Amino acid sequence: MSTLPPSHPFDDDKLKEECGVFGAIGVTDAASFIALGLHALQHRGQEAGGIVTHDTEAGFQSARRFGYVRDNFTSQKVMETLPGSIGIGHVRYSTAGNKGNTAIRDVQPFFGEFAMGGAAIAHNGNITNADALRRELIERGSIFQSSSDSECIIHLMARSLQRNIPERMKDALRRVEGAFSVVAMTRTKLIGVRDPRGVRPLVLGKVGDKGYVLASETCALDIIGAEFVREIEPGEMVVISNDGKLTSSKPFEQKPSRFCIFEHVYFSRPDSILEGRSVYETRRQIGVELAKEAPVEADLVCPVPDSGTPAAIGYAFESGIPYGMGIIRNQYMGRTFIEPSEQIRNMGVRLKLNVNRALIRDKRIILVDDSVVRGTTTRKIKDMLLDAGAAEVHFRIASPPTMWPCFYGVDTPDRDKLLAAQMSVEEMREHLGVDSLEFISLDGLYRAAGAANGRNSDNPQYCDACFSGEYPVTPTDMIAKGFELKTAAE
Ligand code: SF4
Repeated sequence: MSTLPPSHPFDDDKLKEECGVFGAIGVTDAASFIALGLHALQHRGQEAGGIVTHDTEAGFQSARRFGYVRDNFTSQKVMETLPGSIGIGHVRYSTAGNKGNTAIRDVQPFFGEFAMGGAAIAHNGNITNADALRRELIERGSIFQSSSDSECIIHLMARSLQRNIPERMKDALRRVEGAFSVVAMTRTKLIGVRDPRGVRPLVLGKVGDKGYVLASETCALDIIGAEFVREIEPGEMVVISNDGKLTSSKPFEQKPSRFCIFEHVYFSRPDSILEGRSVYETRRQIGVELAKEAPVEADLVCPVPDSGTPAAIGYAFESGIPYGMGIIRNQYMGRTFIEPSEQIRNMGVRLKLNVNRALIRDKRIILVDDSVVRGTTTRKIKDMLLDAGAAEVHFRIASPPTMWPCFYGVDTPDRDKLLAAQMSVEEMREHLGVDSLEFISLDGLYRAAGAANGRNSDNPQYCDACFSGEYPVTPTDMIAKGFELKTAAE
């Protein structure tokens, strides 16, 4: 039986975060910490996961598997093969260039043996000049093992003339464009780096006196009882040795921070803290802003679970309209149908979501969702509500129209598949067949994320390229493939 998590029509209409990373040093049994941390980060990637550890006797050991962390990294048999007090791990959806066709050799962490010893790396983000780098590296003799953009980092490190691994990493990452939050390890050191714009998150936690962990989100610290220390800053590299000593440097040319605003809207878990703000509170505030910007007379505010829930709570609070669970999510569906038959597949969204008929009958419903990507799910949910007797259906969306693809580590359909790239909001409303459809404005979203005066259009505080088309880092490879920018990037 396949161990791959099932793809599902419902999930196909969501943007997908492509990776989560975790690293630990100075703890007994690092692999167990990493497995728990990756389990908490599973929402960032469900296709596959991997762990590398180092132990003085066993050396470097690794395990890479398709499927969920809980199915692969809980068995004693696997965990016994990963001894040591230092290690890193990775969960992935699938990185650029090989969607839906992943081989185990594409599963991170990647490992390289250098003159001064081995090193492993795990990468969250996307390298926007990976094709160009790969071509150059192959011409100079590098032999790639995978189709992943992240492997370029190992080969660039191999070509560096620096004498230690952290310095080689700096050399390598200075050649890399795009978004990266990297955790890496040597026999004695744990390394964490964020790209100069800090597009993807990375946080530092402490365990006991000498133990440290690095994780994509704070929810992965909570699960192991680690104390949150701080975020790794944009453009910062931290190197932590096994005696608990931490050094920090800023090896890149400094750039204005452009953290991904979609992390606040959807990708990160609501119990994580990003930029000092509760993700849940930002999402609730998005609902407040939405209610101010797009009020409508109705009887009930309902979320599309689970990601629309905090915004729906905020919308209900601000509008004074009662909140209710008009749609119930079946949490266990994905586990039941490992390989759904065609007939089951055609049931589509009903496999995961069901209408609470008794609550919504004859009511005017405001339905709050995080985003509209292709619009296929939105239509089906509207049909379900009308079938169940809703009097009116009004959609309120907790992000601006998604009109542009992401090139920084999030799986987005091409522009011609993004509904908002093809239609005006009114055309979308008609296409979806809802009574009204409104999206939060970019300014409203920025206010909800803590920018009191909204978006600074001369120097935006976040990456919002999937809404604005303004890419903070030139997507070099995509331009070479014919992608047309709306505005010039840096
Ligand atoms: S393009 Fe969108 S999803 Fe991608 S990093 Fe920017 S804000 Fe995030």
